[in-house]
Amino acid sequence: MKQTKYHFNPLKMRPALCAYCRIPAGPYLSIRENTIYGACSKEHLELLREDNKLKRVAVVCEDGIDYAITQSKQTYLDIAKEKGTYVMHEWDRKDRELFLGRVVNEYMTWANEQARTGRIDKVIRDGSN
Ligand SMILES: [Zn+2]
Repeated sequence: MKQTKYHFNPLKMRPALCAYCRIPAGPYLSIRENTIYGACSKEHLELLREDNKLKRVAVVCEDGIDYAITQSKQTYLDIAKEKGTYVMHEWDRKDRELFLGRVVNEYMTWANEQARTGRIDKVIRDGSN
């Protein structure tokens, strides 16, 4: 069996969405010369190999952004206090990555929970109920 050789670190750089249907990608990857596509399922991986794609795009939602801003406020305040400035572009890149990663993660938490429950008024953070 031929072993797949990765020319990228899948822990650092991984497709977030299925290239066929645009739902969150699962563990499936379609790797060709200069392209790496994620897929949500084996079925969609096969469709991608046949160059099929739906014409969908992911969009952001204001409620999700509002949620992400609220949830990441404390991280922003903690970094600003530690760095002695509220001016984000004066922070180290590492700190900006930490903060912006938190914002994106909170948005995705909101989006996943909304998709799972259909409720946009109540996002359950730990997913336990
Ligand atoms: Zn898919």
